[in-house]
Amino acid sequence: MGVDQPLGDNIVTASLDGLVNWARKSSIWPMTFGLACCAIEMMAAGAAKHDLDRFGIIFRASPRQSDCIIIAGTVTKKMLPVIKTVYEQMPEPKWVIAMGACACSGGVFDTYSVVQGIDEALPVDVYVPGCPPRPEALLYGIMKLQEKIGKERNTFGSAIGLGERLEPAA
Ligand code: SF4
Repeated sequence: MGVDQPLGDNIVTASLDGLVNWARKSSIWPMTFGLACCAIEMMAAGAAKHDLDRFGIIFRASPRQSDCIIIAGTVTKKMLPVIKTVYEQMPEPKWVIAMGACACSGGVFDTYSVVQGIDEALPVDVYVPGCPPRPEALLYGIMKLQEKIGKERNTFGSAIGLGERLEPAA
C-alpha cells in the first residue's frame, strides 16, 4: 500500500478481509473423525513426524469447535446421515476436505452400499486423491485449503452481518 515510505519498517497495513482470512487459515481446527483406512494416514499426518500443529491445525473432539471436516475413508450409505449431522453441527464458516479415492469418488467400491463421492452430500473444497493418500498429500491438500481461505472475499463483512462470504474469484 501507499504508506510504506513515511511509516518505515515498523507498521504493516492490511485489509480487514486479509486479517480475518489470515487468522482463519492459520487456525484450521478439523473434526476428529475418520471412516476407514485413509483415517490412519490422517492420524499419521497429525502425529510427531508430520506435525499438523505447526500449521495451527488442532483436531477437536466436538463439531461445535471444528471448522473443517476431513472425510477420510469410505462413505457408506448407512454412515452418510451421521456425517451430515456432524457437518450441520459445525458452525460457519466451515470447509470440507475429501481425502482419498473413496471419499472423492467411491474408489474401488462401486457397490450398492457406498456413496460415490461425498460431494453428493457436502460441498467439498479440496479433493486429495490416492488410495490411500500419504500424509504429505493431505498436508498439500490442507495448504491448498489455506490458499483458498486466504482468497475469500467479504469475510469481515459477513462476520458482522453484512452480506455473504464470497468464494475466491475463479
Ligand atoms: S481410498 Fe483406499 S485407503 Fe482410503 S479409505 Fe478408500 S480403500 Fe481405504
